[in-house]
Amino acid sequence: MPDHNIEWICAECGKLIERGYLLVSLEDALHNQFLKNRCETDHNSSTTFRGLEKGPRSANWRALHHCCGAKEGGMQVLEFSINIADVTCQSLLFFTLNMSGDTWLSGTDWVSFIKSKVMPESLSAEI
Ligand SMILES: [Zn+2]
Repeated sequence: MPDHNIEWICAECGKLIERGYLLVSLEDALHNQFLKNRCETDHNSSTTFRGLEKGPRSANWRALHHCCGAKEGGMQVLEFSINIADVTCQSLLFFTLNMSGDTWLSGTDWVSFIKSKVMPESLSAEI
């Protein structure tokens, strides 16, 4: 399958990223995961789509230049990052499979974040 370059736009300065990383706060992810679990327990598996919408907000993945990330005080201890240089369509699949074993991933917006980057416009319009 031919790989195509994904264009990452910096969440800080809005410019195209050549060297940077994808970043998410593990602290937020774990917190949201905790809230989600509690939500599900409270609602006793009667969670509807409406209920999900109202659920805790997912921790947001962001793409950042190295220098723009550094402006925020650099990497925090409780953050997970992926070097954009390592990101291809194939490696995204690997990262996703690799991280899906960690419960914190579902506390983030990883699926919609990646979907918006790799889904052809024609396909995403239908979904
Ligand atoms: Zn930037």
